[in-house]
Amino acid sequence: MDLNKLKMVLKDEPAYRLRQAEELIFKQLIEDWSEAQSLPVALRQKLKNDFPLSTESAVKFLESKDTVKAVISFSDGVKVETVLMRHKDGRNTICVSSQAGCPMGCVFCATGKGGFKRNLSASEIVWQILFFARRLKITGERIDNVVFMGMGEPFLNYDAVMEAVRLINSKDGFNIGARHISISTVGVVEGIEKLADEPIQVNLAISLHAPNDALRSRIVPANKKYPINNILWAVYGYVKKTNRRVMFEYIMIDGVNDSDDNARELAALIKKRLSLKLAFVNLITYNPTGDFKPSNRDRVKKFREIIDQENVETTERYRFGREIKAACGQLANRDVNDKTKIQRP
Ligand code: SF4
Repeated sequence: MDLNKLKMVLKDEPAYRLRQAEELIFKQLIEDWSEAQSLPVALRQKLKNDFPLSTESAVKFLESKDTVKAVISFSDGVKVETVLMRHKDGRNTICVSSQAGCPMGCVFCATGKGGFKRNLSASEIVWQILFFARRLKITGERIDNVVFMGMGEPFLNYDAVMEAVRLINSKDGFNIGARHISISTVGVVEGIEKLADEPIQVNLAISLHAPNDALRSRIVPANKKYPINNILWAVYGYVKKTNRRVMFEYIMIDGVNDSDDNARELAALIKKRLSLKLAFVNLITYNPTGDFKPSNRDRVKKFREIIDQENVETTERYRFGREIKAACGQLANRDVNDKTKIQRP
């Protein structure tokens, strides 16, 4: 969804036509300009030719009781996965991909194992959201939250991600508040520093997953370039500038990073650098991708108790979509075959 292109197409029209067109795309969520009764017929035809609202991308999707996973193929054959999570309280969260594949190679992540294809453009990111916004419109629902936690490392595609964020947040776009937009990074320090200076203050999440460099380098290879100390300094700077809370994500892998000592070390690490009011740990159950096992319930409970005793706040992530391989770390374009239902929204 390239809005600069839309501006070009409408450059000879009165200014209000652009606002009308944006309203039709992002609020009314029309799927074809023929639905735009408020526009003159000739302009509808021009927009149909020069700024089509349907896409050549094929969309296949898998659905479970609370999760829908869309596999979107772009015109060059590259595929990405996007997930809609339907919360029990009626909220809807979209987990978007920022890259096709991922170069970071985290050992527990199916996306990382599949390698990297390319960065997505801002319009390819926005398209993922538009797809689900149109789908939710059918049931009178809307998107409440957008999280950049799908395929890819968002800060390796910083400009496109922020362009998409501005449109997601814009009153003329999806009008989703900055507090309802989250970016998760494996710890790309330059990205954290840049985000601190952005006028839009979205939520920041750090995929930490280990409390020391030796262990983290084994499971998150990017740690060699972005060691924990450097990440925490960048987060410290971010918190100082923005006064925003930061979430530290910690995936619980059986026998790898879930010992009592790991919990104590994690709590000490966070306490050393950050105000306890502005940091918390989000424990994520590992979703099997082949090589590891998730920590059992008792282990997660004990791990959490130890961190709580240190007065570091913890939360646990509800597990969405494991059965359709749509959960954290499971996105890999591998479980949707050509017989899967295809929709062209
Ligand atoms: S966990 Fe995130 S950063 Fe790591 S390989 Fe997977 S998608 Fe990339």
